[in-house]
Formats: sequence, structure tokens, C-alpha cells
Amino acid sequence: MRKILVTGGTGLVGKALQDVIAEEKCADEEWYFAGSKDCDLTDESATRSLFDRVKPNCVIHLAAMVGGLFHNMNNNLDFLRVNIQINDNVLQAAHAHGCEKVVSCLSTCIFPDKTKYPIDETMVHNGPPHSSNYGYSYAKRLIDIQNRGYYDKYGCMFTSVIPCNIFGPNDNYKPTVSHVIPGMIYRMHKLMQENPEIAEEEKTFTVYGSGKPLRQFIYSIDLAKLMIWVLRNYESVEPIILSVDEEQEVTIYDVAKAIAAAFNFKGKLECDTSKADGQYKKTASNKKLRSFLPDFKFTDFNEAIKTSVDWYIQHYDEARK
Ligand code: NDP
Repeated sequence: MRKILVTGGTGLVGKALQDVIAEEKCADEEWYFAGSKDCDLTDESATRSLFDRVKPNCVIHLAAMVGGLFHNMNNNLDFLRVNIQINDNVLQAAHAHGCEKVVSCLSTCIFPDKTKYPIDETMVHNGPPHSSNYGYSYAKRLIDIQNRGYYDKYGCMFTSVIPCNIFGPNDNYKPTVSHVIPGMIYRMHKLMQENPEIAEEEKTFTVYGSGKPLRQFIYSIDLAKLMIWVLRNYESVEPIILSVDEEQEVTIYDVAKAIAAAFNFKGKLECDTSKADGQYKKTASNKKLRSFLPDFKFTDFNEAIKTSVDWYIQHYDEARK
């Protein structure tokens, strides 16, 4: 029986893994999903105790200080320090416990700001990241360096995946920290609920920035399936990008339109260009993933947005907001 510890097991991706695993019912694996209530991973001895308790053979390491553009811009030092602490504690505890594999999570937003497109796995360290999120980016890049160090010194199979932007049920909708999709879901829902005396057709939803930046978005359930595949089948320290295809890139304005359609919002959409856009694009190539899984079918974007919006409406009271 293989025991798998998932750090960050209560977050957006952690909950998606829980759902996929519950459906799969794999008999020779036991999964343990840890949240920050189980253990504060910035604390080295608490991290060791968690590993003593769970005794994992493998780890999917998701736990991180995570946030959208505006949260990152205002808190780069915290993103750097907290994430370095968490990653160092988890990787060292996994090594001390003789874990056979660790799959950690990087992000396509840690790539160099000035780069050629599409981005691929060889480019992680090729230049400074975008200034808006340098703290998060350098902490995440160090995971790749640590993985190589553990492999060189001890032969550990510690690897990493690089997802594009993720969304789905159980996202974090808190306005001060949210990513673009949960942020828009929260604001559109609020706009539709408040001031019922104003006809919906008269209401205007504001898209932050020009609406023009391009992004690739992966549905959390698709990502969870791919991460489980990586855990079971991918035997390399080199990171692997887990992203939708390049043709599936959408503008931020497209995202607003998809969310409006999912809510059946009848008002107007307007861009506020005084707000930051962040990186214009960060198109990533999933060629490596496709070389292993050429037939993997990603969930249709509009369908996944609809499921996510419906989840938010149905779970409004318990959603993180
Ligand atoms: P969430 O913010 O939804 O979840 C974060 C998880 O980390 C939660 O389970 C949280 O626990 C846990 N956590 C945070 N701090 C600590 C701590 N000090 N000790 C223990 N646990 C902690 O994140 P996501 O699911 O969105 O992200 C998962 C991974 O994917 C992260 O590594 C992130 O960097 C990466 N990623 C995310 C993207 C996205 O668009 N969301 C894009 C690309 C990569 P609790 O909730 O119990 O407090």
C-alpha cells in the first residue's frame, strides 16, 4: 500500500485531487490530504511531526502562499519568505523520511518576463520574472533547484509540475487575494445581488485592466488527473508543464464574457484601463505533456466556467470569500 501525503490538500487543487481520487477508488493507494490546520508547514518541527504521523511514501506538495496579481504586487517579501520556508521544510522532511517521490507545484507565472514564446520547461531560470510577482516566482524557482540538489546528492526523485492558471470549484474568492477567475466570479455575483432596485441591464461589470492580456486556464479537475498521472508515471527531475494547448489561450475579456454567460448576467462589461494588466501573455507549450498523453481531452473552457460558477452559487455560504 502506497501512502501519499498531499500538502495544501484543502485548497483549490487539493480538493480537486480529493474528488478525482474519490471517484477512482485505487485500492493500493492511501491518500492523506493535509491543510494548514493539520500542520503549519512554515514550522520545521511541526512539518517533521506531520511526516512522522502520516509516514508517506510519496508527496504531492501543493501548499503555498498563493494569490492573484494585486496580492502579489503588495506582498513580494512575504511570498518569498513563506514559500521558501514551506518548500524547504517539506522537501527536507520528505528526504529524511525516505519518500520515494515528491511532486511539487511551480507555475507558468514564474517564467522570465522577457522571453520568447511559447515558453517551455528549459526556460525557467533564463531571466528575471515579471516585477509584479518576483517573491513568489523566485521561491518557486528554488524548488526546481532544490529538486536537482536532492537528486545530485541523494538520487531523490523529487520533481515538479508547472501548471498554467487554475480555476474550479473550491477556489479562493477573497477579493484581496483572489486570482482573476474567482475574483470576477465574486464581483459579478455581488453586482447582481446588490441594489435590486436597479435593473440588471443597467448594471456595469468592470474588467480590471485592458481586458487584452492572454492567458491559458486549466480546470482544476483536469489538472488533478494530470498530477496523478505525473505521480504514477513521470520519472524525471525535469519539470513538466501541465497546461491546455496554445490554441486554447483566451483574453481576460473572453473570461469576463464566459463568466457573464454562466451567470446569465444581462448588464454591460467595461474595461478599467487604470488598473494593472500584469504580464501581457505567458503562452506555455505543453509539447512535452502531449508527447506522453497525446489524447488527453481538456474540459471545454465555457463548460468548466459554468460548473465553477454553479458551484459558487450553490456553496456561497462556505466558499472562501
Ligand atoms: P489554495 O490557495 O487554494 O490552497 C493553498 C493550500 O495551501 C491550502 O490547502 C492551505 O491550507 C495550504 N497552506 C497555505 N499555507 C500553509 C501553511 N503555512 N502550512 C500548511 N498549509 C498551508 O492554492 P491552490 O490550490 O490554488 O494552489 C495549489 C498549488 O498550485 C500551489 O503550490 C500554487 O502555487 C500552485 N499554482 C496555483 C495556480 C492557481 O491559479 N491557483 C497556478 C499555478 C500554480 P488551508 O486552506 O487549510 O489554510
